[in-house]
Amino acid sequence: MTTRISWDQYFMAQSHLLALRSTCTRLAVGATIVRDKRIIAGGYNGSIAGGVHCIDEGCYVIDNHCVRTIHAEMNALLQCSKFGVPTTGAEIYVTHFPCLHCCKAIIQAGIKTVYYAMEYKNHPYALEMFEQADVRVEQVELVEMAVSLNDPEKIGFINNLIERLEESGASDEEIKSWYERSTDLFSKKG
Ligand SMILES: [Zn+2]
Ligand SMILES: [Zn+2]
Repeated sequence: MTTRISWDQYFMAQSHLLALRSTCTRLAVGATIVRDKRIIAGGYNGSIAGGVHCIDEGCYVIDNHCVRTIHAEMNALLQCSKFGVPTTGAEIYVTHFPCLHCCKAIIQAGIKTVYYAMEYKNHPYALEMFEQADVRVEQVELVEMAVSLNDPEKIGFINNLIERLEESGASDEEIKSWYERSTDLFSKKG
């Protein structure tokens, strides 16, 4: 079994890792900006630098939105502006489909491709704007088995068990069901 992951999976995995740094309890989002297969910035949704965190103080909710946090995409874009890194022609990998504000910022920053893992209130106007601006949008779901941090150990363990099953004359169907069960179990979150 090959464990080499694609660039898309690699960058999307990076965004999922960043999402783990989120300080908002309502939704954990990560964003990675990439140019020429190189990560130029990353962000997660959280408070301004030095601000209190939602996870400590609770969310600051107005009209059903947490107003304390800056979105992951914005944080990644602002990191580029802070350090003077051009975003023209870059790509962004986000764990969730961006909100309208972020979509506009992404377009204005000159980003040409948006990869997202999870559907999230995908707004039709966002798709309309992306189309007008000639920004490509593509869903790239993270294959969790591909990025599990202790992958080699888990895969080795599963393969060993499967081999033993084969040796003991288990049916293909039985082996398949055990394999799926273990894949399920090992890719479970939390
Ligand atoms: Zn919050
Ligand atoms: Zn947003």
